[in-house]
Amino acid sequence: MNWVGEGHTDKGLVRQSNQDAFSLNNALSFWIVADGMGGHAGGDIASRLAVERIESYITSHLLSSSSPKEEPSIPSLLSNAISSANHAIQEYVKQHPDYHGMGSTVVVLYISPSPPLQACLAHVGDSRAYVFRDGSLRQLTRDHSWVETRIRDGQLTPAEVKGHPMEHVLMKAVGSEPTVEVELTTVPLQSRDHLLLCTDGLTKMITDQDISGLLSRSTSPLDGACQQLVHSANQRGGQDNITVVVIRQAQSL
Ligand code: CA
Repeated sequence: MNWVGEGHTDKGLVRQSNQDAFSLNNALSFWIVADGMGGHAGGDIASRLAVERIESYITSHLLSSSSPKEEPSIPSLLSNAISSANHAIQEYVKQHPDYHGMGSTVVVLYISPSPPLQACLAHVGDSRAYVFRDGSLRQLTRDHSWVETRIRDGQLTPAEVKGHPMEHVLMKAVGSEPTVEVELTTVPLQSRDHLLLCTDGLTKMITDQDISGLLSRSTSPLDGACQQLVHSANQRGGQDNITVVVIRQAQSL
């Protein structure tokens, strides 16, 4: 059964430009969300470069491979695609020194068309993946952020992080260093799961309970869920760019 994703992005109510980017590849069953950073137009360029490079890398390898559904190769394919984007951004900055310091988060989801039913995730930064199952939402990625590191060390509690001056400082990003370390996660799926990819412009504005409520109420069309999530984040202030991709099996549309 095919998995189908829909996405929506919005610059929010405060920012002058939208530095988020996303890509839907329903035919090959992978989806990408990126959140760029950097002065001038650097963030726009970085996230777009990251998405374009990752999409073309994965597409060309899946289509050229003699055994495209070979599971063990998928995590390394996703990781190599992100490394390729890292290189592309580094090369761009070499050519355009004004853009020094630009980079992007990225989260990539691939769902195998053949058993076992599972999600392969690759991410860098604080754009997230969630699974919504049986009415509850579970975060599948951990942020590569300063505050997340302190929470894991026990130096801060999740409650203390809200509004912390270091709340949005990332520990790594695609394109900001000569090489990038990608975190890979594989998660078993169930046929009625909904997957959510999003930038922090969503999760800073609305709670897990808000997201669960919207996803459980959404039936069809799928696009309605993405629009409603973005609308909800804007209703709470829309302080950052907001990007949402929701993926579920075609039969549950
Ligand atoms: Ca953001």
